[in-house]
Amino acid sequence: MTRAALVVAAGRGDRVGGDIPKQYRYLLGKPVLRWSVETLRAAGVEKIAVAIAPEHADLCRAATDGLDVAMVLGGATRTASVTAGLQALGSADLIHIHDAARPGLSPAIIRSLETAIEQGGAGAAPALPISDSLRRVNGDDAIVDDVDREALVRVQTPQTFRGDALRAAYAALAQDASFSDDLAVVRAHGGLCVTVRGDARLMKLTYPEDFQLLERIMGGDRIVCVGNGVDAHRFGDGDFVTLCGVQIPHTKGLVGHSDADAGWHALVDAILGALGEGDIGAHFPPSDPQWRGADSERFLRRAVQLADAAGARIVHVDVTLLCERPKIGPHRERMRQRTADVLGLPIERVSVKATTTERMGFLGREEGLAAQATATLDRPA
Ligand code: MG
Repeated sequence: MTRAALVVAAGRGDRVGGDIPKQYRYLLGKPVLRWSVETLRAAGVEKIAVAIAPEHADLCRAATDGLDVAMVLGGATRTASVTAGLQALGSADLIHIHDAARPGLSPAIIRSLETAIEQGGAGAAPALPISDSLRRVNGDDAIVDDVDREALVRVQTPQTFRGDALRAAYAALAQDASFSDDLAVVRAHGGLCVTVRGDARLMKLTYPEDFQLLERIMGGDRIVCVGNGVDAHRFGDGDFVTLCGVQIPHTKGLVGHSDADAGWHALVDAILGALGEGDIGAHFPPSDPQWRGADSERFLRRAVQLADAAGARIVHVDVTLLCERPKIGPHRERMRQRTADVLGLPIERVSVKATTTERMGFLGREEGLAAQATATLDRPA
């Protein structure tokens, strides 16, 4: 029996937020999409296609590097994406269709789905019982009906099909047909579909907090690591300084190889410190001309990538700027917001504060300014 799989990863916007679509974000050190593809490969599925949004080709290539998958351009609806994917998979005897946003796929689930098909189902999907009671509500949140949960289940993916039944069901679809999932397509064509015992780890990543929850469910002891960083830059000619990504008018500028953003440089070192990844100079050598005048946002984004790749999550950061002038207070909230945006954190978990040194020392003489930062990371033990 030949087996193939289509992983649907064509989603764009979602409720998870962040710069990168959820299927390409890191979970426990790997892109979300890669988890499922690796499991399908390990289970011996011969041919794997991934349906993607056209603008995500580079993200998909990076996430599936070395795994030999066919990329298929998805359509406007899930139904259109699967139609395109089925053409790429050809004539396999058995086809798994899986949501990329469910990375907790296990070989055991794949086996039990394949068994259900071998035993005569046209389609099969994992499903879990519902433990909460169910009520129907109206638009005003008033309960209008009780719903018997006994006969109801929550259906997950992969949804697994006899290849001929799936192809026939899709071939019979009207041009503009749109179904919520593939079981519905096959059932509409008269195919018998069954459920197998689902798995809590197959939860769909939908909201930002789901990443943390799934990491806990998928296991792995985690520890908290705290890193600190310090940086200083000398004042020179100029009429503004850049601190925590915000340009502040001043009677002087800051001298440095990059944009001399001491706040973000200290923060990058704090994150690298928590990761045990050396210091900013090792990652962005001042001797390398590509960093001349560089926007420090690039350094900070790179630190976030390194944290992602280590399966670490930045939990909280605290930056202290040390200078007599310019006054930081009026710009503090913008600095917090800029930093929060780059780190992908809610602003409540980003602190920026300032102090003077009571006119003592090089900071007091306004020869330059300095910054100190602390980063708290949650990471695999
Ligand atoms: Mg620096």
